[in-house]
Amino acid sequence: MSDSPSYRSGFVCILGKPNAGKSTLLNTLLGQKLVIASDKPQTTRHRIFGIDSGEGYQIVYSDTPGLIRPKYKLQERMMGGISQAMEDADIMLLLLALNESFPEEDLFELVSKSRLPRLLVFNKTDLVDPVYAEERIARVCSQLGVPDPLRISALRGDGVPELKERIRSLLPEGPPYFDPEEVSDRPERFFFAELIREKIFQLTHEEVPYASEVEIVQVDTLPERLHIYANIHVERETQKGILIGKGGRMLRQIGTLARQDIEAFTGSPVHLEIHIKVSEGWKDSGRYLNSFGY
Ligand code: GDP
Ligand code: MG
Repeated sequence: MSDSPSYRSGFVCILGKPNAGKSTLLNTLLGQKLVIASDKPQTTRHRIFGIDSGEGYQIVYSDTPGLIRPKYKLQERMMGGISQAMEDADIMLLLLALNESFPEEDLFELVSKSRLPRLLVFNKTDLVDPVYAEERIARVCSQLGVPDPLRISALRGDGVPELKERIRSLLPEGPPYFDPEEVSDRPERFFFAELIREKIFQLTHEEVPYASEVEIVQVDTLPERLHIYANIHVERETQKGILIGKGGRMLRQIGTLARQDIEAFTGSPVHLEIHIKVSEGWKDSGRYLNSFGY
């Protein structure tokens, strides 16, 4: 009953360094692949809400790009999204990957600036020696003055139910913010673009994923399937060559994998057509960034 007085709802902002596992955690919490993840930092560029509605509660998670110092305009806008997410949040979830070293001063700054209830969550327990992990956890907790850390493996799901319970216990009382049927605030076509971009992050290297942006040009809903037309924008001719690949192999692979994921996401057959465009300087162009939704 969404209007009973004991209904609890709130926004949880997931924060952490690039690669901490924020997007993976969100997918695990939602039990569905909503946001994209890869082994490359800064895969996530937008703030995305993921909505979990259950009996008597609604948790609205925001996945954010990792915390970095901006070097170009795209990164400035990415960081702007984080501040926004923190302002709107009821709970701050700090995610730290145990297998990586993290500059703890940055976190300290972030934690001390915020008055929100905070959860300190250590991820990737599956990758580290438990004794070493406990030493580290104890040190960070005392540095940050945050007690009761949680230990999880976002990838395997270990500790995630306990984390969800903890979040539920911290939620303020209030009505749902979104229709309980919805899983995100973003339209479907946003996820089509993201699923294509994920394949670029997973299959290409060095500067290519960072030079790429996906634009959904048109979506036609035919009775038997969805027709999706997309552009991949890159900065240079050489990057276009890499994305097309020898005999078109790379583009075919990106297209096939993205189509399969979009079909799983929408539950209907998909025809996906991708073109590659050279749009020099898009990462520093306000006009391009606006049109890409940043
Ligand atoms: P984000 O940048 O914080 O959003 O991190 P992602 O969710 O994109 O994850 C970065 C990488 O870490 C991906 O390759 C994930 O598969 C991996 N990863 C995330 N959580 C875990 C975990 O608990 N264990 C292991 N082994 N890998 C993880
Ligand atoms: Mg991410």
